[in-house]
Amino acid sequence: MLESRKEASVADRILHVNSTSIGNWEWSRTPSGRAMDELAELNNLLSSVTISDRPDSWKFSLDTSGIFTTSSMSNLINTLKYGINSRNLSLPRNKYVPQKVFIFSWKVIQQKIPVRSELDKKGIDLHTILCPLCDNHIETVDHALINCQKVSSIWIQILDWWNQNISTISNINEAIISDQGFSLNPIGSSLWQATKWIACYILWKHRNQKVFSGKIWNPAMIISEIQSQSFSWISNRSRKKTSIAWHQWLLNPSFYVASPPIRTGIG
Ligand SMILES: [Zn+2]
Repeated sequence: MLESRKEASVADRILHVNSTSIGNWEWSRTPSGRAMDELAELNNLLSSVTISDRPDSWKFSLDTSGIFTTSSMSNLINTLKYGINSRNLSLPRNKYVPQKVFIFSWKVIQQKIPVRSELDKKGIDLHTILCPLCDNHIETVDHALINCQKVSSIWIQILDWWNQNISTISNINEAIISDQGFSLNPIGSSLWQATKWIACYILWKHRNQKVFSGKIWNPAMIISEIQSQSFSWISNRSRKKTSIAWHQWLLNPSFYVASPPIRTGIG
C-alpha cells in the first residue's frame, strides 16, 4: 500500500551490494507503526532472494519442478481428495486404467478400503463384521475381493476368459501387483494387470450396491460389466482407438497379447 509506483518490479526494489540484498524503496510516506513490523518481515524474506538477469517467467509453486502440468495438478487434487500423492505410490502406474481405478488398486494393497474388519478396527460399531455376500466369513480385503466364494467363482471365469493357465488367484497381491500367468509380452502383462484392477474395482462397486442399495449379486452381469468396461477403458487408452475388436476381446483377449507380440494398434 505504501509503494509509490505500483508497477515497480522486485528487481527495482532490491539492490545487490557485495552479495547482500538491500531494499531500494520508494514509499509514498515513511512507514511507521505496524508497517515497520511488516517491513522488517519483508526484509527478512528478501534477504535470501537473489535476482537474475533472465526475463520474468511464471512458476507453478505447487510443484517442485516449478512447471505446471495437468499431472502435477491432478496429483495435488488427489493429495487433497484422497490424502495420497500418486507420484509417491509404490504401485507402478498402468496406463490402460483411469486414475480412479489406479487409486482404488493402491488403496486395496494398503488395506485402505472400508471392508467391515477394517471399520471394526477403527472402532466403528457395526451390526456384523461378516461378509455381506456370503455371510459366512469375516470381511477382510482379501476375502471381499478374492476369496469369498461369490467372488472366486467370478475370478475363475475371468482366468478362463483370458486363457490363463493358473487355476485361481489366491490373494490381493496376485490380483494387483503380480503379473504372473501365462507368458505375456510387456503390453500383454499390462493389459492383464489392467483387467484385474478393473475387475477388483467393479467387484467392489457391486459389493457396495448390494450393501447400500440392496441390489442382487448377479455374477453373470458382473462378468459382462468387467468385460465391457475393460474393453472401453483399455481401447480408449490404446494408441489406435479402433484396433481392439470387441468380439475378439470378448472371445479371447490374449489374442492381442500372445508372446511374441502380434502387430496390433495396442500400445
Ligand atoms: Zn464372503
